[in-house]
Amino acid sequence: MNETASLRARAEIDLAALRANVRALRARAAGAQLMAVVKSDAYGHGAIPCARAALEAGATWLGTATPHEALALRAAGLGGRVMCWLWTPGGPWREAIEADIDVSVSGMWALREVVAAAEAAGRPARIQLKADTGLGRNGCQPSDWPELVAAARTAEQAGTVRITGLWSHFACADEPGHPSIAAQLGVYRDMVAYAEKAGVEPEVRHMANSPATLTVPESYFDLVRTGIAMYGISPSPELGTPADFGLRPVMTLAASVALVKQVPAGHGVSYGHHYTTSAETTLGLIPLGYADGIPRHASGRGPVLVGGALRRVAGRVAMDQFVVDLGGDVVEVGSEAVLFGPGDRGEPSAEDWAEAAGTIAYEIVTRIGGRVPRVYVNETPADENDAQAGPDGIRADENESPPDPT
Ligand SMILES: *Cc1c(COP(=O)(O)O)cnc(C)c1O
Repeated sequence: MNETASLRARAEIDLAALRANVRALRARAAGAQLMAVVKSDAYGHGAIPCARAALEAGATWLGTATPHEALALRAAGLGGRVMCWLWTPGGPWREAIEADIDVSVSGMWALREVVAAAEAAGRPARIQLKADTGLGRNGCQPSDWPELVAAARTAEQAGTVRITGLWSHFACADEPGHPSIAAQLGVYRDMVAYAEKAGVEPEVRHMANSPATLTVPESYFDLVRTGIAMYGISPSPELGTPADFGLRPVMTLAASVALVKQVPAGHGVSYGHHYTTSAETTLGLIPLGYADGIPRHASGRGPVLVGGALRRVAGRVAMDQFVVDLGGDVVEVGSEAVLFGPGDRGEPSAEDWAEAAGTIAYEIVTRIGGRVPRVYVNETPADENDAQAGPDGIRADENESPPDPT
């Protein structure tokens, strides 16, 4: 095994898979730019390496929820356009303006704060007006839109802001044919038309998240914002598997088996004794628990590949560990237990864990805790360039300029 095999546990992040996923999504939404959504530490995969890999694969924008997440990308030296959308009073607006970050504005309070910060910074803020076209979460209601657009235009004419985008977010894009999809698109078109009539000239109009990018081509406009699909996970099992969309899971979560022992029939296992051995058997101790993001709701159910076979969590998931019943198999201590991954070795998927815990795969990967080291593999894009390399190993696109924008 490689040197990381001795770790208690690790989340292996395959950046070649991430880059290939970005390319697959760009091919699907050809003509639109791609924003790599790297909020929440890139859904648990590590924001900086994933953002860098996404840019290498042709993403032109990075998206985060909070301004602090966006500022961290700039602090790491990442270029490209960066946008963030979850603001609370107090900012940090000025830091974002000075770091050349596009900021989302959903209401008058935010516009007032960003205008004041732009005046203090002595440079215009790039703002994107967010429309609530039906999600009912963040964004400006259609009834409040005229006031927000007018005030933003006034600030633009005064030189304190540039309105770079008009955007919105779907509520039910993961349910193909849901009537809200067409309804939201209609409201969005109306709100864009209103703003453009008022003089707004957005660089980018955008609405599509991963499920819309996979299933609603009329939602592409100028840019698609992909999160979960970029990490190789299907937004919902009803839409299809990752492979159906040419996507490959990026994260593999594995641990070293910490103890294997023989126990008699009738032995209780883990807190509460919710599992009792039905016969003499072997138990394996897996050193991951709910502190690491293994859902306690998957107690008695979560699947794990150990010793060449799929096992289930026996009894409760505890804070730091859980147990699997090895059914008498002798598994070596220190051998690998794979909780989820791309499936090449027959290991479960993050989706399988989501099903076991009654949640969505987004939550499974995003919650993998800080105690689990991320181990990056295929960090340099050399591998996949081999496919395009000529006989002397020079990539075709190294000889051309400008690079192909698609
Ligand atoms: C998280 C998020 C996305 C990405 O959603 P996915 O379903 O993971 O692609 C896009 N837009 C906004 C506003 C988001 O908050």
